[in-house]
Amino acid sequence: MDVPRTQKAGWIEVITGSMFSGKSEELIRRLRRAQIARQKVQIFKPTFDNRFSDHHIVSHSDMRMASENVANSRALLAQVKDDAEVVGIDEGQFFDADLPEVCNELANKGKRVIVAGLDQDYLGKPFEPMPHLLAIAEYITKTLAICVVCGNPANHTQRLVASQDRVLVGAQGTYEARCRGCFDPALASVPDSA
Ligand code: ADP
Ligand code: ZN
Repeated sequence: MDVPRTQKAGWIEVITGSMFSGKSEELIRRLRRAQIARQKVQIFKPTFDNRFSDHHIVSHSDMRMASENVANSRALLAQVKDDAEVVGIDEGQFFDADLPEVCNELANKGKRVIVAGLDQDYLGKPFEPMPHLLAIAEYITKTLAICVVCGNPANHTQRLVASQDRVLVGAQGTYEARCRGCFDPALASVPDSA
């Protein structure tokens, strides 16, 4: 029996990969196209990622779009307007463990949710909550950078300074893209004598 559709279907798209792989560029490309189609778009990033601009998501190639800062994923949910059709989220790895559930709620309300974020940390370990989001997303795009050492496809973010902080928001020269052969997590380890 055909069930009449009363609600527009929503879904979750995830764009993930290493730093410099073009996640923000791809997110901005999709959001711009939605705006051109006159869809109502809202864009969010976590409050503490203010590296480039307080009120924009910005790519390393300097593409930018106005965004709203939110302290956590529940605050994001509260800030989404009823008539928003597309919700873009950058730096998903800096959100809390509620982000997958918040994205589910938005998609269940009929919204297209697009999340960009790192899939691995500087040690190559899965970077929560992105792995959870990958499991529940309808669409996944894995982006790769170019290894700055050898030119192969780069799936890793190499930290170039010694620090054991998982979140070390980078000044220029703190990170670079590397392939699996050139990636060396030991480069970021703090020497015992330090
Ligand atoms: P991400 O969001 O994944 O960190 P961005 O979208 O911010 O990536 O930036 C992608 C841009 O970074 C590329 O278009 C290019 O201009 C620049 N870039 C710098 N280093 C590299 C690299 N090693 N490989 C590919 N792109 C790089
Ligand atoms: Zn390499």
